[in-house]
Amino acid sequence: MKSISIKKMLCTACGSCETICPWCAITMIHGIANIDLDKCTLCGVCLDACQTGAIEICNVRPSSLDSSAFQDVWVFAEQKNGVVQSVTYELLGEGRKLANALKVSLCAVLLGHEIKSQVQVLIARGADRVFLVEHPGLAFFQDEPYAKVLIDLLQRYKPTIFLCGATAIGRSLAPRVATIIDAGLTADCTGLEVDPETGGLLQTRPTFGGNVMATIICPNHRPQMATVRPKVMKEAVADFGRQGELIVEQVAEALLLSRTQRLRFETESETTVNLSEANIIVAGGRGLQTPENFQLIRELAEVLGAGVGASRAAVDAGWIAYSHQVGQTGKTVCPKIYIACGISGQIQHLAGMSSSDMIIAINKDEEAPIFRVADYGLVGDLFEILPLLTREFRKLLKS
Ligand SMILES: Cc1cc2nc3c(=O)[nH]c(=O)nc-3n(C[C@H](O)[C@H](O)[C@H](O)COP(=O)(O)OP(=O)(O)OC[C@H]3O[C@@H](n4cnc5c(N)ncnc54)[C@H](O)[C@@H]3O)c2cc1C
Repeated sequence: MKSISIKKMLCTACGSCETICPWCAITMIHGIANIDLDKCTLCGVCLDACQTGAIEICNVRPSSLDSSAFQDVWVFAEQKNGVVQSVTYELLGEGRKLANALKVSLCAVLLGHEIKSQVQVLIARGADRVFLVEHPGLAFFQDEPYAKVLIDLLQRYKPTIFLCGATAIGRSLAPRVATIIDAGLTADCTGLEVDPETGGLLQTRPTFGGNVMATIICPNHRPQMATVRPKVMKEAVADFGRQGELIVEQVAEALLLSRTQRLRFETESETTVNLSEANIIVAGGRGLQTPENFQLIRELAEVLGAGVGASRAAVDAGWIAYSHQVGQTGKTVCPKIYIACGISGQIQHLAGMSSSDMIIAINKDEEAPIFRVADYGLVGDLFEILPLLTREFRKLLKS
């Protein structure tokens, strides 16, 4: 393994490494070059630029990790209102392949209150063992107690792999757990495999807006943690004849302390179709100019029986809730028809919708990048086009 370091005695803080670094990983702090190892790719460009030989890439000792102390594949069984969510079955489907390849057990960990009925479901879907932690304080997801209970279990039982769904809950929980137990975490994986040579987990995920698939390994830390995008892996098929083991864990009250309190649950007041299930999506961007103008998107969506999507610019402006955001940091959607209105088509937006069957773009700028992925493009003012489309579709669909 390689690492990079600065020989402080030789560094003159001339800044040439900072200027040339393509990853913006180097900054001058207190007169010495400082390398952000999270950004550095060890490309070595800075070595050539440094006139004083102050930068060094060298071999580091392999870690003292005893990976044989870590066994089994664990899956976080996400539940809502006492019902295990389908992403868990997808994780169990994938986890089964990994457990078979490693010849270890597949385990599910289920946290909640009065949820014992779900244990058999998890076993039917492939869990060999279910760790059940029940307490009124765990009835609803809260970051801190859930993370603390999980950390306690992971440290005691030492699984080699721990998978969570890349859902709102998984994305909140997994990094908190990984940071505290000093584990690696790959977010938003679309492929998982066991390396036949090392037995390590090969974690594949799209990067650079989906243009590159990166495979990430975690050789020096355990467990190897990954969140997995919902609807990417196949669900494990249920077999209610399967037998499995139930391990009931008592929870220490100290683990349930939380700095936040759940007051109530409020469902969103949107009336249109759920984005992930929508066959048609009408999405609006900054081109709409004001929150009120989103009504134009909603009207067309209503006539078409479509879901309402949005660009991050529209969400960040507070015009529409985050749950409507499509893209790299929002939802990935794959409808039959995606109508992008006043959306420029930046790579981060395309990452969430470019696999739609048909893309229709409305934009007044004929050079907008959205037209490069669009099957049909309408160059013009959305304030004129949208009401016309709504009126015509209303007429057509009535008749
Ligand atoms: C790490 C990271 C993650 C990100 N994640 C996401 C993400 O998940 N989703 C996302 O969408 N973005 C994301 N972004 C932001 C992204 O880079 C863009 O800034 C964003 O998508 C722009 O939104 P927009 O197209 O609505 O706005 P703009 O780029 O400002 O485009 C507005 C468009 O509207 C058109 N327009 C204006 N007026 C009219 C009119 N009257 N009629 C017709 N057209 C009109 C303009 O020609 C323009 O093309 C991310 C960025 C980063 C750095």
